[in-house]
Amino acid sequence: PFPLVTEYCDIVSGFGRGSAELGVPTANVPIEQLPKSINDLDLGVYFGFAHIRAVDSEEASVETRQEGRTVTYSYGQYLSEANGDLDVLPMVLSVGKNPFYGNDFKTMELHVLHDFKNDFYGAKVKFNILGHIRPELNYTTKEALIKDINIDIKIAQTVLATPSYQAYKRQL
Ligand code: ADP
Ligand code: MG
Repeated sequence: PFPLVTEYCDIVSGFGRGSAELGVPTANVPIEQLPKSINDLDLGVYFGFAHIRAVDSEEASVETRQEGRTVTYSYGQYLSEANGDLDVLPMVLSVGKNPFYGNDFKTMELHVLHDFKNDFYGAKVKFNILGHIRPELNYTTKEALIKDINIDIKIAQTVLATPSYQAYKRQL
């Protein structure tokens, strides 16, 4: 069914386990903002590209102290200064019920293959899905889960770097 593509979606808070427990932060997107074709996908791990867009909203502002004085940024300005120019980046998508954690509702979470300097809650993300890596598995240990997540990341990195997949960056 690939490629599948979304519109810009919100990035919402999950349980905060991604970075804290697994060392792999995942940007969670609300499933009700996704097309049916994506919501109909089997639980599992997929790969594609994502574009993160800062939202320049007036209400959302961030205060930081620089050289002894308080500077107020709009959230969008803050985000791009903190993270640099946000390009179209490779990502791994988990469509899951996270059986390891005993959840019974579905989550859609993107791990972007980029070392961000700051969180980007409140930003928007648009992504495409270009392929399937594996079904969701029920791990008995956290270590086995982390090991497979790292294999997923290697597969996505390798495949997305090839010219035939690079062409799909232009879709976003
Ligand atoms: P939550 O449960 O709230 O999703 P996580 O521990 O999964 O918490 O962290 C997700 C947040 O981390 C994202 O919403 C984003 O703001 C930030 N983040 C930082 N680096 C990345 C990355 N490489 N990929 C995805 N999210 C990242
Ligand atoms: Mg997450």
